Amino acid sequence: MTDLFALNSRKLLEHAHIGVIIHRWDTSVIYANPTALHLLGLSYKQIIGKDDFDPQWNFLNDAGKKLLVEDYPVNKVKRTQQRLTNEVIGVIDVSNNKISWFFINAYYEGEPESPDSFIVVTFNDITDSKELFSFQAVVENAMDIVIVTEAENIQHPTGPKIVYVNRAFEDLTGYTKEQALGETPRILQGALTDQESKNRIHSALQNNQGINETLLNYDVKGRPYWVEMNIIPLINKYGDVTHFAAIERDVSERKFHLEQLKKRNHDLKVLKRDLELLVEKRTLELQKAKATLEKIAFFDPLTNIPNRRFFIDQSNRLIQSCNRRNVMIAFGIIDIDDFKVLNDTYGHNLGDTVLVDLSNYLKHFFRIDDAFCRHGGEEFAFAVAIENAIDIESLAERLITGIRSISIEIDTNTQLSITVSIGIKLCNPSSNLDLEVEIKQADIALYQSKGNHKNKFTIVSDS
Ligand code: GH3
Ligand code: MG
Ligand code: MG
Repeated sequence: MTDLFALNSRKLLEHAHIGVIIHRWDTSVIYANPTALHLLGLSYKQIIGKDDFDPQWNFLNDAGKKLLVEDYPVNKVKRTQQRLTNEVIGVIDVSNNKISWFFINAYYEGEPESPDSFIVVTFNDITDSKELFSFQAVVENAMDIVIVTEAENIQHPTGPKIVYVNRAFEDLTGYTKEQALGETPRILQGALTDQESKNRIHSALQNNQGINETLLNYDVKGRPYWVEMNIIPLINKYGDVTHFAAIERDVSERKFHLEQLKKRNHDLKVLKRDLELLVEKRTLELQKAKATLEKIAFFDPLTNIPNRRFFIDQSNRLIQSCNRRNVMIAFGIIDIDDFKVLNDTYGHNLGDTVLVDLSNYLKHFFRIDDAFCRHGGEEFAFAVAIENAIDIESLAERLITGIRSISIEIDTNTQLSITVSIGIKLCNPSSNLDLEVEIKQADIALYQSKGNHKNKFTIVSDS
């Protein structure tokens, strides 16, 4: 068809997807196309003949305020004799108080005030995109970052494509809206962004599911920051996921504190382990040092009299000196009688006191040239130069009786005494005397004293 004017305009109106209502100059409706009836929820009968003053109309302006009758679209065209372009008007359905929002255009044909003139109103429904207040303004000014991406093509590296970012996004990331739109949120990721988190996000998107993640992102200058994000799939009225909205907030500080706490815990653990190792090492060192000290020490720590080591050294000197002076030398072992019973009866501490008291007695008893020591346990050893064989007998006798008279205090009212048995080996002067051998023989002599009801001394000699 080449003649456009031969087009059936009524048919055109019947099929148009835009509401069309034609009024006379007196505002009464003379025609409404099917889309108009559908959009207004009215039948042809209900609308035909009605004018603008019909109380069934309830119009709101863009701001949601009730329109005065003179400002109804048709009346406005009549009054101003101007066409109406892209006005947003709400129509209240009185049966259920629901508001439908329309985009309205209106113009007139013919002479104003003439009964032959028409006022044509066209409109389409914008209810879906019109709300009483602007959600966009809320989102745009939110402190949290909002990023909306398309849901189609979420594949690396191009998708998903950013279609909206709010102001907080610009503030935090440093990217402008213009830079971000058309990009993918992957521009925010970098070398240290956790791969597993990224995978989790990817598979959630793939399954059209929401997800919460905490992720390391980078701003336009490469500064890293942590965001906690909630990703929500956005669904249209047909149930399809068309977009994803990510609501994100900067949690770098919180994350920093958490990391610090974790690090501190770790440091403390390491410190504890180091300390344990150090203590272990020091204990070992101390044990070694104690062993060394014991080796180089000459005095018994409990009784503070010479130890065996010192005694060996002193005795060997005495052997040489007796040899030079050609005098005899006696080696003796003193052993406390029934010391175990004493320990068992009065306790180990009292046993220690007895050892100390006996040692103090021996300190006074022996002369500077004599050698004596705590030989071990409750045994003491001595070596003395003897000019006359008889001297050793009196010495042993004095020892036995002297020790027996030591008064050991158990408490203020109770004293205790002990007895000892003694074994002595008397040797002639010789430079070849072996201390160990002589002490062994003194020990054998001691056994004889013990076997002979104790509290005695036994002297043996070579000849
Ligand atoms: P015996 O008359 O035959 O010598 O009998 P005993 O009980 O004196 O001898 P025994 O060898 O049976 O026991 C010695 C005891 O000496 C056992 C041990 O516990 C005690 N003893 C060793 N060294 C110490 C010490 O340093 N302090 C205390 N309190 N007791 C010690
Ligand atoms: Mg003993
Ligand atoms: Mg004993």
